[in-house]
Amino acid sequence: MLLLFLSLLAGACLSSLVQEKNPEYWRAQAQQTLHKALELQKLNTNVAKNVILFVGDGMGVTTVSAARILKGQLHHMPGEEFQLEMEKFPFLALSKTYNTNAQVPDSAGTATAFLCGVKSKKGTLGVSAAASRSQCNTTKGNEITSILRWAKDAGKSVGIVTTTRVNHATPSAAYAHSVDRTWYSDNEMPSEALGQGCKDIAHQLMHNIPDIEVVLGGGRKYMFPKGTPDVEYGNKEARGTRLDGQRLTDIWREKKPPNKNAYYVWNRRQLLKLDWNHVDFLLGLFEPKDMMYELNRNRWTDPSLTEMVEVAIKILRKNPEGFFLLVEGGRIDHGHHAGKAKQALHEVVEMDRAIARAGALTSSEDTLTVVTADHSHVFTLGGHAPRGNSIFGLATSLSDRDKKPFTSLLYGNGPGYKVVAGERENVLAVDYADKNYRAQAAVPLSKETHGSEDVPVFSKGPMAHLLHGVFEQNYIPHAMAYASCIGSNTDHCQGQRWPGDGATAGSSSEQAERTQQRSNSAIACSPLAPLLSAVD
Ligand SMILES: [Zn+2]
Repeated sequence: MLLLFLSLLAGACLSSLVQEKNPEYWRAQAQQTLHKALELQKLNTNVAKNVILFVGDGMGVTTVSAARILKGQLHHMPGEEFQLEMEKFPFLALSKTYNTNAQVPDSAGTATAFLCGVKSKKGTLGVSAAASRSQCNTTKGNEITSILRWAKDAGKSVGIVTTTRVNHATPSAAYAHSVDRTWYSDNEMPSEALGQGCKDIAHQLMHNIPDIEVVLGGGRKYMFPKGTPDVEYGNKEARGTRLDGQRLTDIWREKKPPNKNAYYVWNRRQLLKLDWNHVDFLLGLFEPKDMMYELNRNRWTDPSLTEMVEVAIKILRKNPEGFFLLVEGGRIDHGHHAGKAKQALHEVVEMDRAIARAGALTSSEDTLTVVTADHSHVFTLGGHAPRGNSIFGLATSLSDRDKKPFTSLLYGNGPGYKVVAGERENVLAVDYADKNYRAQAAVPLSKETHGSEDVPVFSKGPMAHLLHGVFEQNYIPHAMAYASCIGSNTDHCQGQRWPGDGATAGSSSEQAERTQQRSNSAIACSPLAPLLSAVD
């Protein structure tokens, strides 16, 4: 049966639509899925030496489905049958994302939930719901710590990789306690808050947990005194913002032990030139604010998310006690807010590539990997499109009301709302496949909004089965901490270590890397192999 499936699968690479007419194709595929499900009866109850948490900011279920079709089409397939890397994970759950004071959440409240294990208010970071947004004097006493801190306290190495500013909402909840997510530097803070002693988020990155081994992303301008010219761009907006006159990159270095190698880099060449074996601490700030969209990325100066993840893992995994790594595909959300579905979906494809790279560098025997989103968006995919239709294409029929075509991808609200001469814009008059095309929206808004339905949680590795069913978002770090024997609930861990601990520590990951490389070359359909490596 398996051989039949594999031969049918090989055929599918060439002509999946023909194979699908054969009922045996579907029966064999279902048996294969059943076989994999039966294997899950033997649970992986190892201790997770390493934990990697991938967060696709704004990556709701519709976004995952659309990105699956896009990635399949980049592989020259119809697309619907494709499987993202995250979809290969054996366990899946749904996370309820609301904030304590918001039905539709924001990234600060949700990040606090999935990193600190406590639900809180919209717009606040690393503080409980007892704190009030923008009220500095409600911070003290309401601070809550994150799984990154728990991992550090347990002797693990820790890292943060994001495509946004490193002091943006999602990464900040890992290290900061701020009642306002917009307090990027002291320049963005009200004088009252400064007077009451609250510190900006960039400052907290350097001081709260000074020994974070790897920090990679954007956000350079918040680290330098106001008016300091940027190292890469000449425009005024890229200049430093800090009112306190501090150069935080210098402070970051000064806080590291003198016998350790600490590197600050600001471009891709410097990053890839590093010898990870001799890097103890790494700070990489590649843009003044957020990093570029993957489709707009300058391939000479800016690393991809995948490259950053690879560097981070190679540095972090040197610690025999293991590591915790937070990775954010942070600009999926920005693409959606702008109504630019193509930008958002290519961000997901890039994060999926990073998930594959992380999988190749680690082993499910000792590494728990979780992929989730903080919240969704009001993004839809539908309209009777035929099989294999371009994901950025038109639905088959015209609207029976205004007799105009429409795209499969639409938004419930946002900047794509457009009326021309009193009627809905005819999309044939514009380039709806352009990367900056704003998909049509039902309600005009300058920024498309978040959605409030549940988001997926994919997991693999030790204790991945603990992430199942429908749960509150703040459960996620509790499950990850239990799996890796860190944090407050560790009674089950007495004397337990991970496979390969001791003399062979690290060998399981290296073995996994070799196995993955072999299996990658084995599963690639030979005529498409060059294309696979080009887009994967
Ligand atoms: Zn957002």
